[in-house]
Amino acid sequence: MASRDDTRKDAAIKASPSSESRDPAYFSYYAQFVHQQNMLQDNVRTSMYHSAIIANGPGWFRGKTVMDIGAGSGILSYFAVQAGAEKVYAVEASSMAVRMRKMLASTGTRNTWMHEKIEVVPSKIEDAELVQVDTLISEPIGVLLVHERMIESYLYARDHFLKPGGAMLPSAGTIYLAPFTDANLWTQTMAKVRFWENTNFFGVDFSPLCRDAKEEIFAQPVVGCFDHRILLAPSVSHHVDFRTITIADLQDIIIPFEWEVPFTGLIHGIAGWFDINLGGFMLSTSPSAERTHWQQVRFLLKEPLAVNAYETIRGWMRLTVNSQRSYDVVAEIVTGKEALLADPKTTTIQSKETEEIDPRLTPGGSGRRQGKWALHEQCYWYDTGVDYTRPEFLAMYSPDLLEGSGDGNEMDTQLFSA
Ligand code: SAH
Repeated sequence: MASRDDTRKDAAIKASPSSESRDPAYFSYYAQFVHQQNMLQDNVRTSMYHSAIIANGPGWFRGKTVMDIGAGSGILSYFAVQAGAEKVYAVEASSMAVRMRKMLASTGTRNTWMHEKIEVVPSKIEDAELVQVDTLISEPIGVLLVHERMIESYLYARDHFLKPGGAMLPSAGTIYLAPFTDANLWTQTMAKVRFWENTNFFGVDFSPLCRDAKEEIFAQPVVGCFDHRILLAPSVSHHVDFRTITIADLQDIIIPFEWEVPFTGLIHGIAGWFDINLGGFMLSTSPSAERTHWQQVRFLLKEPLAVNAYETIRGWMRLTVNSQRSYDVVAEIVTGKEALLADPKTTTIQSKETEEIDPRLTPGGSGRRQGKWALHEQCYWYDTGVDYTRPEFLAMYSPDLLEGSGDGNEMDTQLFSA
């Protein structure tokens, strides 16, 4: 940790948008039982944390001082005591802290095993004055890992309150991106846009707004689970090591990608998900894993992009923090060997469809799409009734699959241990 360049880091953090204005709304959300319950009842999440904390009890919890950053209902603090922690600081900025105190006030008769083990700190971690601890625990994870910008608070705790060599649970996360095809989702999204083409809505012509509506609607990331067989290529990954990454690194993330697509078909967008490492236990939110309350997220392209089987497509996604406790997302995808990629550091995506991309960057036979999205403007989508048993149901065509055994399992075997 000593090797971190603190001057550069502090300057970068000051220059980046603060999300503090969102705090009242953010913490009143987490003050409600229903939202804590939603996380508690995500059994994949809660049972993985439980297993990870208990299994790492001997090394990280037994007889140790622990800090729980964003304790909420206090669940991870309670698990830490079960794993043998001597003392747990449960830091929580929302008024859930009052509820934790109520729990702890009753430990004379209920949950006696946690009596006098936990101290509630009703504060933002950034405003707390606390001692150094042996182990940090937290669940600071949002959609696509980073939404909510709470990992920054987790890193703040690391930099201020973790003893040298102390443990962090989680210790790392990985973001995954893959191209997908989903004509149904794209068409339904376009249908929302088409409403604004109406030239006679009770005598009103709304079509002057159609372009703007398309911009706004396609800028909404689509949160929801999907069948992994809509993915057109194995994912690329971007690893985030919570033990070493700086807050500044998290505020501007560039993920380059290169995918070889074994199908002829249409790319409708980029799908994303993540996993986190909980002391050796991997909590995955992949479309091929059991579903979690985070689900997955998809970034739709305004215009689908055609690919031929075995073509390599290239590009990048850039995520920069904004004041909405989230990220502005821009991405570019190109097909064709000759196409040049724009520089993610300097590219600002035009808001209109008259995107003036230098035509020399995309010579004949290649294609290019750029897009921008606001990660906080999420909308939801739940798939209904799509038949995934054969790739051609998704308009994905592959020379190899046509020669397959015809037993219907080609997609599962050939594709994507996502
Ligand atoms: N640890 C609980 C709750 C996780 S949700 C569980 O695993 O179920 C994240 C919690 O962190 C919310 O209750 C939120 O109010 C709190 N939180 C977010 N940022 C915080 C910060 N900077 N300081 C203190 N608490 C914070």
